[in-house]
Amino acid sequence: VWNNCLEFIKDNIQPQAYKTWFEPIIAVKLTDNALSIQVPSKFFYEWLEEHYVKILKVSLTKELGETAKLVYIIKMENTYGNKQPFTEKIPSSNRLGLKSQDVDIPLNNKSPQLRNPFVIPGIRNVKIESQLNPNYSFENFLEGDSNRLARSAGLAVAAKPGGTSFNPLLIFGGVGLGKTHLAHAIGVDIKDKYPEKTVLYISAEKFTQQYIDAVKKNNRNDFIHFYQIIDVLIIDDVQFLSGKTGTQDVFFHIFNHLHQNGKQVVLTSDKAPVDMQDIEQRLLSRFKWGLSAELQNPDFETRVSILRNKLYRDGVEMPEDIIEYVAKNIKSNVRELEGAIISLIAQSSFNKKEITIDLARTIVEKFVKNTKREVSIDYIQKVVSDYFQMDIDTLQSKTRKRHIVQARQLAMFFAKKLTKASLASIGSQIGKRDHATVLHACKTVDNLSSTDKQFRKYVEDITKKLSV
Ligand code: ADP
Ligand code: MG
Repeated sequence: VWNNCLEFIKDNIQPQAYKTWFEPIIAVKLTDNALSIQVPSKFFYEWLEEHYVKILKVSLTKELGETAKLVYIIKMENTYGNKQPFTEKIPSSNRLGLKSQDVDIPLNNKSPQLRNPFVIPGIRNVKIESQLNPNYSFENFLEGDSNRLARSAGLAVAAKPGGTSFNPLLIFGGVGLGKTHLAHAIGVDIKDKYPEKTVLYISAEKFTQQYIDAVKKNNRNDFIHFYQIIDVLIIDDVQFLSGKTGTQDVFFHIFNHLHQNGKQVVLTSDKAPVDMQDIEQRLLSRFKWGLSAELQNPDFETRVSILRNKLYRDGVEMPEDIIEYVAKNIKSNVRELEGAIISLIAQSSFNKKEITIDLARTIVEKFVKNTKREVSIDYIQKVVSDYFQMDIDTLQSKTRKRHIVQARQLAMFFAKKLTKASLASIGSQIGKRDHATVLHACKTVDNLSSTDKQFRKYVEDITKKLSV
């Protein structure tokens, strides 16, 4: 019976949803017109009831007639030291009729504490340190075109944590553009407005480490419970979860629980969800539920105001033309911008020198040189071939297959644009071509990116990947 239901459901919902929500279900028994199915957890059950009750009902009545009943059995581990799994049965006959009243959940274990299986008694009273840095406030986060959307989404979330459609709020952008700062600012502001709320900031790396430790010590459930009682969970640099399937699983679990209970989740990442690699699809689709807001490179005006603000807070005076000189020359990231100004101040006070344009020039030059590694032609070839999922040999080969030719032309185009190499030298490094071929490639890319939308996207994607 269940298999027939599954067939029907599979034909009627998204494959991914089917995989996530129906494959894990185990049919347990069938008595008269009641089918018992086992689901992995309570929120799983809630999710099914909320989103799939109609299709379940239709498929089941097709099989068992109008009086069909569905009974959920929730499988879960006991969290009270007793390793015996216990189950909780929820007769769903009344809910399946789409009535809105709550199900009375009879537990086979009568302890009242087990009524809410997600809360360990006692842990509610444990004070959780938010791990927030008060200096990373909204006040200190200067607004500009590059961050306006992300910043105002952050403010909206802080005003009504869990109460906006920005859940999760995902802030993404390159290194040093303010993701960590903004993530803290949201937490700091929430703590300010809602002192009673439990806020936690944690890097994905630390989260992963904690999880691994918990598993080692057999505390996986405590770990989950700990996170499930948080009101605002802020996880920084989620790209770190790439390839870590165990941690992704547990995070998925926690995320669903928090989200279902109207708790706020804030995430940061160095990439947009579409560009994230080795992150499970089901997790990526959760990331897209809310809002993804990008932090872009700040424009000149914003860079100037960030510098002024920093100097003001540090009580340092600096001539306007020097501020502008620094802001003009350090473009790609705020952390470098701050770094340059700090070393400028340090240099001048150390050598008792006045801050002059010349001093600024030497420092900025050093800074730009030290921090901005020049992109090499090899690196460009690697990025382009990775992007098209081919190897460098293929990219360089003599083949005339269209997509390979295009990849090769893109590599040439970027080599011309981003390095000082001559056309001839580029040609010889990318598959031993001559300078005319490279020139032709550059023109072709120019043309195509103004006429072909797909092609323009290639150029944009690769530009992003290359500009670290
Ligand atoms: P990310 O996490 O994106 O790598 P950070 O949040 O660590 O970047 O930011 C790097 C530095 O730049 C921090 O010192 C931060 O305070 C500063 N910063 C970034 N954006 C802004 C901004 N809009 N206004 C003020 N300071 C900023
Ligand atoms: Mg950061």
